[in-house]
Amino acid sequence: MIRVSELRLELDEDESLLRKKAGKVLRTDPKYIEKLTIFKKSVDARKKDDVHFSYTVDVTLGLDETQVLRRCRSPKAKAAEEYKYTLPVNRRQSAFRPVVVGFGPAGMFAGLILAEAGLRPIVLERGKDIQRRQQDVNAFWQQHILNEESNVQFGEGGAGTFSDGKLTTGIKSPFIRQVLQELYEAGAPEEILYAAKPHIGTDRLAVVVQNIRKKIERLGGEVRLECRLENLILANGFIHGVTYSHLGQTVDMETDAVILAIGHSARDTVEMLYKNGAQIIQKPFSVGARIEHPQKLIDKAQYGAFAGHPKLGAADYKLSCHGLHQRGAYTFCMCPGGTVVAAASEKGSVIVNGMSTLARDGENANSALLVGIDPVDFPSEHPLAGMYYQREIEQNAFALGGGDYRAPAQLVGDFLADLESRALGNVQPTCPTGVTLTNLRYCLPDKVRTTMQAAITEMDKRLHGFALPDAVLTAPETRSSSSVRILRDEFCQCNLRGVYPCGEGAGYAGGIVSAAVDGIKCAHAVLADAH
Ligand SMILES: Cc1cc2nc3c(=O)[nH]c(=O)nc-3n(C[C@H](O)[C@H](O)[C@H](O)COP(=O)(O)OP(=O)(O)OC[C@H]3O[C@@H](n4cnc5c(N)ncnc54)[C@H](O)[C@@H]3O)c2cc1C
Repeated sequence: MIRVSELRLELDEDESLLRKKAGKVLRTDPKYIEKLTIFKKSVDARKKDDVHFSYTVDVTLGLDETQVLRRCRSPKAKAAEEYKYTLPVNRRQSAFRPVVVGFGPAGMFAGLILAEAGLRPIVLERGKDIQRRQQDVNAFWQQHILNEESNVQFGEGGAGTFSDGKLTTGIKSPFIRQVLQELYEAGAPEEILYAAKPHIGTDRLAVVVQNIRKKIERLGGEVRLECRLENLILANGFIHGVTYSHLGQTVDMETDAVILAIGHSARDTVEMLYKNGAQIIQKPFSVGARIEHPQKLIDKAQYGAFAGHPKLGAADYKLSCHGLHQRGAYTFCMCPGGTVVAAASEKGSVIVNGMSTLARDGENANSALLVGIDPVDFPSEHPLAGMYYQREIEQNAFALGGGDYRAPAQLVGDFLADLESRALGNVQPTCPTGVTLTNLRYCLPDKVRTTMQAAITEMDKRLHGFALPDAVLTAPETRSSSSVRILRDEFCQCNLRGVYPCGEGAGYAGGIVSAAVDGIKCAHAVLADAH
């Protein structure tokens, strides 16, 4: 197979032209191309007057490919191999079924691999199935009734289910391909296999998650919903079982391997682990707000005269600034054509996030604008101090919003001038529980607020309109990552032997794909443990 990169297509050109273009690079008649698949597709918008697509394709030729490569001498062509995931050998001797706690991306992929290896894992998930979870989330968004066990963070699919479903990641791992392939087979659009910025959309994610659960069950695994891990049964530092609760009943279950994929919002479970002696350390995290602009403004800033072209869809952006008040600020989880999400999981607290549907056709663009918080900023050296600091910010926001889950919000113009907002301008905020106009100085730490002010002005130089006075900031965004790390060794186990801290909550991932990859990694570690 030969991989040919940097094939340019104009916005109005058809993908059928790729054969001809690949043939030209290879100096080979396209009739010898037996198979062509798109490996990567991206929008090149570096020059606003020359927006086009750039493709990398894999071709199989009905000719000697080594000779073709030697003859064409193009830096755009190189030999490539198709990636194929292989399940590692199962060295486990134990008769116990492994337990996975949490059915977010990390737990889903850990469960899937263990099920494929024939270990019939039992997955415990504290939240409800997707349909009933959706009803609880609707009750929260429409009537402001929060269910602490079934919400945007907890339930089938984890935090990922109500996410935007962007599948970009900063990590490098051969398992990324496998994650995308599984998601595609479970119902995600084919484009995720090759788009430079793959995206599922929250609407399609629900289907994907349910199909992955069914696959685990078909392979002999079990996903037990509304089952919350309450405690670990330990003896001499080794895991012997777990205690979980289900609809008011407490159940003890024997096992010698527990993958803990609990996400970053299960503060009660983290406290339980700490009490049991798990080694937990502080970890930096970020705090900020969602910033909403009209999507048309972002399209214009990114695509110039090409804005609105049907093949381009809604434009995104990614911005960062360093060295502002000795801190960095960055945009995160940008949702083109999306909405702000009220994402609380604890009563009396407000947090926001963002999502979009597959179509990304909403009026507004939103993104988190975040500032890093280091352990030196935490109120104490206690390993869980960052977690309590997050909670304090969320509770302050609840009070500032009016005590009924409306989120505090401020116009960007007022934020920059440090003035309380009193009326909305041309941008309608989309937070489903509503917003209370205020001054965000009363809920964001000072260092976060002043760094955000400097960043907005700086970012406006790179994305014209970013500092639009009518743009709306809705706060706080506190849970872009975990505030703790549960230490683990090279076998992915923590000091409580047989316990595998996994995914975002344990501090080993940030986002859907990296959490899923970590799930695979921990499942491999279970398979490799021959005790
Ligand atoms: C609104 C929103 C939008 C997002 N958008 C994106 C995006 O576009 N792209 C992206 O990459 N990331 C996005 N994220 C982040 C992404 O969802 C997380 O990074 C990812 O879900 C982390 O995966 P995880 O499996 O480690 O944890 P989680 O997905 O948080 O899953 C943990 C699961 O464990 C369960 N659990 C916790 N404690 C217990 C217990 N004691 N017993 C049993 N079960 C328990 C929880 O109920 C939960 O279902 C978004 C998040 C949100 C909230």
